[in-house]
Amino acid sequence: MIAIAKPYLTADEAQCAYDTILTGWVTQGPRVQEFEEKFASYTGAKYAVALSNCTTALHLAMIVADVKAGDEVICPSMSYVATANCIMYVGATPVFAEVNEHFNLDVSDVEKRITSKTKAILLVHQIGMPADIAAFKQLCEKHKLLLIEDAACAAGSAYQGQKIGSHSDLVCFSFHPRKVITTGDGGMVTTNREAFYKRLKLLRQHAMSVNDRERHHSTKIIFEDHLEVGYNYRMTDIQASVGIKQLEKLDFIIEERRKIAKRYNAAFSNIKGVKVQEEKEGYFTNYQSYTLLFDATSKATRNQFMELMLEKGISTRRGIMTSHRESAYKTTHSDLSLPLTEYYSDNSVVIPLFYPMSDQEIETVITTVRSILE
Ligand SMILES: *Cc1c(COP(=O)(O)O)cnc(C)c1O
Repeated sequence: MIAIAKPYLTADEAQCAYDTILTGWVTQGPRVQEFEEKFASYTGAKYAVALSNCTTALHLAMIVADVKAGDEVICPSMSYVATANCIMYVGATPVFAEVNEHFNLDVSDVEKRITSKTKAILLVHQIGMPADIAAFKQLCEKHKLLLIEDAACAAGSAYQGQKIGSHSDLVCFSFHPRKVITTGDGGMVTTNREAFYKRLKLLRQHAMSVNDRERHHSTKIIFEDHLEVGYNYRMTDIQASVGIKQLEKLDFIIEERRKIAKRYNAAFSNIKGVKVQEEKEGYFTNYQSYTLLFDATSKATRNQFMELMLEKGISTRRGIMTSHRESAYKTTHSDLSLPLTEYYSDNSVVIPLFYPMSDQEIETVITTVRSILE
């Protein structure tokens, strides 16, 4: 079986985790701080705050953005369900908007859904392909909204020559193994605003006025205060030490992923009824996933294609899910019609792409896809 994805972890990362464990400082500490500094510097953002995963990162982003009950946040339905869930966590309402052929929010459709209750736009860079950040920044300025980025898949991607993470004030990343680099589970928020930075650091650790390290290094007795109702959304130093090593390899991993994507694009772009993801000028994707989009003229339907690939021992996954059709949202959104979202989700498929994928595996995928669809 050819896997759909695999994390690129080696003895390097194992050694980092080993070394950290032997220091005796295993939860949030010096390695977390080092990972944050390195991630901020990599993305070009002023600050970075490490968290337990991207879902908790998105939750805290909502809180520091002051999104609360009665507010609306516009986001895509076509995304992993955590995108919509984080809006629900703070009692606000996700308002689902349509996406374009890159599976990213369509700016004119979003504008139509803005109401007096709209507080923010949650922009997803789906499967690593940047959304049109400039257009959304402009829209947010015009309507006095906050822009929050769900960059779960987009570590190392870039928009207009600048790494994702540096364009706006709340950008959330994931280090789940299905993403391009991993810490097991893990997340990060980047920001340029000091106030956001400070509040994120407080909230992730029970809103404790003194953190563990300060207390540990203090020569006096310190009693901490809990300034508000906080959370335990810490990343551990074991995870961070793995993240530091993964971050060193990120550009290399992306380069290798892009080589595979280039081979796929060359092999698949002339197949009738099938579209590959194109990278427009100013957009740089890390190819967190590689997708094919089918239309009515393709030789096999999306589901037939998935079955035939499985028979040949190649894993595929359905296109990105739609949140409004999941049980958790179905009843409240039963009258919502998102024809483009549903079309893109139902007619797209993810095929294997990871590093290191062997030449043999890449060729097998190419010849099998072509034999089914040509
Ligand atoms: C993976 C993913 C998440 C969730 O990330 P976790 O780190 O697993 O919490 C959120 N949004 C999008 C778009 C994702 O792809």
